[in-house]
Amino acid sequence: MFEKRYLGSRFTASLMLVAAIAITAVSGLSYMKMREPGPDIDRVVPHAGFEHKRLSDWFEGLAGTPADTDIYVQEGAEPGGTVLILGGTHANEPAGVIAAVVMLEQADVKRGRLMIAPYANPMARTHTFPQDAHPQTFSFRTPNGVTRAFRYGARITNPVNEWPNPDIYIHPESGQTMAGIERSNLNRAHPGVADGGATERLAYGFMELIKQEKVDLAIDLHEASPEYPVVDALVAHERAMELAAMVTMELEFEGVPIRLEPSPKNLRGLNHREWGDNADVLAVLLETCNASAGRFRGRTDEALILTGEDKAYEKAAGLGRLYVPWESFDKRFEERVARHVTTVRLLADNLEFVREGKGVTVEGLPAYQELSDLGVGAFLSD
Ligand SMILES: [Zn+2]
Repeated sequence: MFEKRYLGSRFTASLMLVAAIAITAVSGLSYMKMREPGPDIDRVVPHAGFEHKRLSDWFEGLAGTPADTDIYVQEGAEPGGTVLILGGTHANEPAGVIAAVVMLEQADVKRGRLMIAPYANPMARTHTFPQDAHPQTFSFRTPNGVTRAFRYGARITNPVNEWPNPDIYIHPESGQTMAGIERSNLNRAHPGVADGGATERLAYGFMELIKQEKVDLAIDLHEASPEYPVVDALVAHERAMELAAMVTMELEFEGVPIRLEPSPKNLRGLNHREWGDNADVLAVLLETCNASAGRFRGRTDEALILTGEDKAYEKAAGLGRLYVPWESFDKRFEERVARHVTTVRLLADNLEFVREGKGVTVEGLPAYQELSDLGVGAFLSD
């Protein structure tokens, strides 16, 4: 009797072990695939006139490292200023990434220069957060039926590239202390350290680009959880406030209401904060609403990324527990991308008024309603 039970439990244990190894192998391979996703994932088709560069062209210390990233530059016939756009500072904020890609594929620069970094932190694109159950990719269809797929990454650099993080991260410039994980957050690592960690070096590269190219306006595209108070917002460095205020009014006229927020001076390491503090650039950050990153969310799949509809949020909003105007947020993916693209267009359009002779004119960008009606796929190339 005793022996039989003993054999049975040994059999169960062996079965569990085999199952555990199988699950680990399958998920491990799937995880590894995020690092080499193949040529069809994250592919971009830049508009005619864009020149492909790498951030290491401005900071050699990035060459040959996983932190190096693509920069696309287009110069118009007429001289003007320079606008820099970053998508994917946080790789789990997909509308910021795709807005940068849409502009890369549609922008026709007439005056000045446009520089786009669609995947600002490439090391954040190779993993998703453990236990967050995010899908690894999401996709759109072009009018010709071609599928364009993109990775959904994480907020921070992959631990494979930067490990271990300290218990407490001391921001090198200011001495401000943060959670250790923030060392791997590009949006806390600015202005960067030339011989620092991978993320600090990446930040240093962007700072060098901004200084060497004398960038006039730098725009960092983000998304936030719905419960975060700064959603559908334009956060401006104090020197960019005049420009941001003009754009806020124009957005109201175009039926795209936005919150204008002054950037807190004492919150250090953020891209736009340090760009504005360390260079002669007007720096802003844009936020849209991303339910797929929210803490209340239910089922986390591609549909949630693209529709922004979530029963848990609906319920929380209905009970008055969200404390944010959930109903009025732009939730659909195409609305979020449209909001980013429209805000960028108006910022560039108004640059001339705050920096004479430094205007930047970009044609070909879809209007808010057009993008919202036709969807993102209509503005991606085959
Ligand atoms: Zn962000």
